[in-house]
Amino acid sequence: MHIRDIFEQSPTTFSFEFMPPKTDAAAEQLVVIVDELQKLRPSFVSVTYGAGGSTRQRTNDLVVRLKTETTCDPAPHITCVCHSEADIQQILQRYAEHNISNVMALSGDTPKSVVGYDRSQDAYRYAADLVRAIKKFNETGVHPHPDGFGIGVAGYPEGHPSTPNRLLEMDYLKAKVNEGADYIVTQLFFDNRDFYDFRERCDLAGIHVPIIAGIMPVITEDGMRRMSQLALGTRIPARLLRAVKRCEGDDEYVRKVGVQWATEQCRDLLDNRANGIHFYTFNRSTAAREIYANLGVKDSRGLAV
Ligand SMILES: Cc1cc2nc3c(=O)[nH]c(=O)nc-3n(C[C@H](O)[C@H](O)[C@H](O)COP(=O)(O)OP(=O)(O)OC[C@H]3O[C@@H](n4cnc5c(N)ncnc54)[C@H](O)[C@@H]3O)c2cc1C
Repeated sequence: MHIRDIFEQSPTTFSFEFMPPKTDAAAEQLVVIVDELQKLRPSFVSVTYGAGGSTRQRTNDLVVRLKTETTCDPAPHITCVCHSEADIQQILQRYAEHNISNVMALSGDTPKSVVGYDRSQDAYRYAADLVRAIKKFNETGVHPHPDGFGIGVAGYPEGHPSTPNRLLEMDYLKAKVNEGADYIVTQLFFDNRDFYDFRERCDLAGIHVPIIAGIMPVITEDGMRRMSQLALGTRIPARLLRAVKRCEGDDEYVRKVGVQWATEQCRDLLDNRANGIHFYTFNRSTAAREIYANLGVKDSRGLAV
């Protein structure tokens, strides 16, 4: 469903992010996880994209599988990095053929496998350039929906690590929206005050599209460290760190602490009328299902308050 229509039907969206599986076994495991999560009727699900060799195809395969074999509405990520104009056209064409409603336009990180890559080779440097290209594609009428793809972009409540100037960063975010982005999904954060402040700064900058909050429950201490590397700049509050430390490395306790923390974040976000909550699932389902249960949400699309 087009993102505008989703927001017309739901006061708050709930969505999940999946990563393309790297092996056949992981793909089969993901089928089970998706089956469990689709029962919660997410508003949409997103699929990450790696611009390196085989991972490109894996995203496409997972997106098509989700679209054709499940009730999930996949919103694939597309990145500028390592792509020519023809590559991007080909990706959009394929997603249009499968009637994919929304895509997430990102600048992207250079894959680790590509050493010394010169980004001046890319047809599009910034996500705003990619949004413009997708809007242009939408005008061709290739997509079955008269408006073409709905477009999401990334936002960073605590700032993007490569732009320390936070005022300039808001100008860049505004540029993405001005080019035609319909919604923003944020980088994960652990302190809702960062999100509320970001939301206010967006408002002051004249950015008035829905802002969906990115939430990642801490599952293990190692996972928390890996996440800190992936989402550079994300602050882990002392209260959360203390709670994790108290677990003394017991994974089951850490998981409980992480689910509890994320539940409280989500409850507060719902009370404060966040437009949506996007769970970074890392292809697992238990934590998200527990958070839903803790919140008393059985069905995302039926959420009334
Ligand atoms: C929700 C979410 C999902 C993600 N999914 C993926 C994924 O699937 N695959 C992947 O590879 N990465 C993904 N990322 C990571 C993201 O691609 C990287 O963080 C990347 O460095 C920034 O992407 P962007 O789309 O925010 O870029 P942009 O908005 O283009 O910004 C990139 C950097 O350039 C700056 N900038 C923007 N415009 C200009 C300009 N005109 N002049 C100078 N500087 C400018 C920005 O401030 C920022 O620091 C995701 C991030 C988020 C938050």
